[in-house]
Amino acid sequence: MGVQKTIAVIRGDGIGPEIVGEALRILNAVAKLYGHTFLYDDVDMGGIAIDKWGDPLPAEMLEKCLRADSVLLGAVGGKKWDGIPGDKRPEKGLLRLRAGMGVYANNRPAKIWRQLADASPLKKAIVEKGIDFLIVRELTGGIYFGARQTGEENGERYAADEMRYTEKEIRRIGRIGFETARKRRGKLCSVEKSNVLDCSRLWKKVLHELAEEYPEVTLTDMLVDNCAMQIVKDPSQFDVIVTENMFGDILSDEASMITGSIGMIPSSSLGDGTRGLYEPIHGSAPDIAGQDLANPIGTILSAAMMLKYSFDLTEEADAVENAVDRVLEQGYRTADILGSDPACIRVGCREMGERIEAALRFIAANGNGKDTTI
Ligand code: NAD
Repeated sequence: MGVQKTIAVIRGDGIGPEIVGEALRILNAVAKLYGHTFLYDDVDMGGIAIDKWGDPLPAEMLEKCLRADSVLLGAVGGKKWDGIPGDKRPEKGLLRLRAGMGVYANNRPAKIWRQLADASPLKKAIVEKGIDFLIVRELTGGIYFGARQTGEENGERYAADEMRYTEKEIRRIGRIGFETARKRRGKLCSVEKSNVLDCSRLWKKVLHELAEEYPEVTLTDMLVDNCAMQIVKDPSQFDVIVTENMFGDILSDEASMITGSIGMIPSSSLGDGTRGLYEPIHGSAPDIAGQDLANPIGTILSAAMMLKYSFDLTEEADAVENAVDRVLEQGYRTADILGSDPACIRVGCREMGERIEAALRFIAANGNGKDTTI
């Protein structure tokens, strides 16, 4: 049976309106092909909101996001607003949105598209084993939010940052890890430093307690230093990694590097309940804005994540991913992923969206059983 969902849509600045336009094209196609209704509520945030309302996220705009079933964001920011004082800058809108929505889990997939394998800095033999995992990072606790102190003692300067986690904070992020793994290949790797840190020992205990509620998910433990090595040595072993804030910050950047293009990577931020914030990991790319040059795939895949993790529409999400795979297979590339293969065909942002929509129609009519990784 079809679902009805309201999506708050933040087009933002720079390439934001172009890439979000193409993601909406795909969501509209999903709605039509699979019998759902998506209603959109436009939200001004970032530079555009500063120009219109004198505030990067006016209260009524945040309210719209909180009323919606989920939020889709392009990107915000640009040179025009660089000189504005700190609390009025476009990025402040984003921080207020995250805080207002209470999202404490940031999820970033690391996936290599076999057609773009050459873009990975890893050896071919490693890439060919397949890379398709997701890092669930705790976003609002740990050492970045603990007590801090800088001072002088016995004639020497010192600084201290406290890493602190409560059982509740660990359990709620752990649950997102298990729920995410449940919707993927059922493997969860908990990453910590339990050979040294008390925080990590508590983390490990709580994760294992939670595991009893998820018999369908296999939980393993890994020390963070080992995980950093394994991500470059054999990334094919991972499905979902769950970890605390600072470890996740470092590991998720490492993971995005091994996949190649910044324009291809989506993300989600989740809190309690199913409402999430979905956005590509890149910024507003003012250098290519308004020229039909942007790669919309990171935003389109963000919309696919929304379908899977907020609306539980796994078949539709897989169909969107397979449509992207099909278009890459046909050789269509935006400028950022063009590479040197003369057989590839360069297209703009709009045509890339149109091609993915056409592929989605084909998949909806002919089945969805394709594996999109190497
Ligand atoms: P950026 O990610 O916008 O751009 C970095 C480089 O990648 C540029 O050369 C750009 O052309 C290219 N690029 C990025 N996305 C692309 C896409 N979809 N297709 C093709 N090429 C793409 O980073 P930046 O230049 O450091 O920042 C630009 C602005 O974006 C700044 O104002 C920054 O504060 C803001 N920003 C916003 C967010 C966000 O909204 N979440 C995140 C990061 C940066």
